[in-house]
Amino acid sequence: MKTGLAAGLAACLIFWGTFSCSAAAGDTDEAYCALKGKIVGEFSGTTPKEWGETVTGVRTELATNDIVIALTFDACGSMNGKGFDQKLISYLERENIPATLFINARWIDANRELFLRLAANPLFEIANHGTHHKPASVNGNRVYGMTGTRSIAELVDEIEINSIKIQRLTGKKPEYYRSGTAFYDEVAVSVANRLGYEVAGFTVLGDAGATYTGDQVKEALLKAEPGAIVILHMNHPEGQTAAGVMKAVPELRKRGFTFVKLSEYELR
Ligand SMILES: [Zn+2]
Repeated sequence: MKTGLAAGLAACLIFWGTFSCSAAAGDTDEAYCALKGKIVGEFSGTTPKEWGETVTGVRTELATNDIVIALTFDACGSMNGKGFDQKLISYLERENIPATLFINARWIDANRELFLRLAANPLFEIANHGTHHKPASVNGNRVYGMTGTRSIAELVDEIEINSIKIQRLTGKKPEYYRSGTAFYDEVAVSVANRLGYEVAGFTVLGDAGATYTGDQVKEALLKAEPGAIVILHMNHPEGQTAAGVMKAVPELRKRGFTFVKLSEYELR
């Protein structure tokens, strides 16, 4: 007859056998695996009901009436998304415009020196844009022809492996997570919260994946209300995001807006 301990161990081994934990993180493997196992246990059997950009728990604006805008720039790191919009970032630096940068692991790998330079600049804060840029699902939901993470375990890896990479390079855990495509189910949002991140949606679609013309970017930005979070991209120098931002900023300043990082306000 098995002792309680042996039975417990056997159950534990069976449980651990349901997902792989080795992909992550070298010297933090053990702590990471323990955390991942705990979260898989906590959320297993939870079936999501929502799927979209504004599901329960996604924060879409700053909780303030101050006349401020938070510009956020994604760096997605897909096959043709590893570029760097030098013109855009130089403009932000020159004009002293703070911004929150959502960076994907593959972009970091392709631009390590640049990443370190951006992370060292107090004008910017680094946020988490996932490891493989997957929509945040717990059951493989799809959007834009992309399959989201297929399980809680895969979702934890998607969020946390990039976070660990960022922490190792910067010494700081990111405060915010935005999934690839900015799509979520509400269980995935809870998992991100449980891991210690706020999920940052947006109020204003600023450049539609860097496909807008400069005038469209300007038009989108000028619709921003106080407290807006604007989503834009910093990884497509061939696009017109920089041109649009440069057209909109002087006009927004005339209207009394100042620019802030997400962390300067509570989100709602
Ligand atoms: Zn992206």
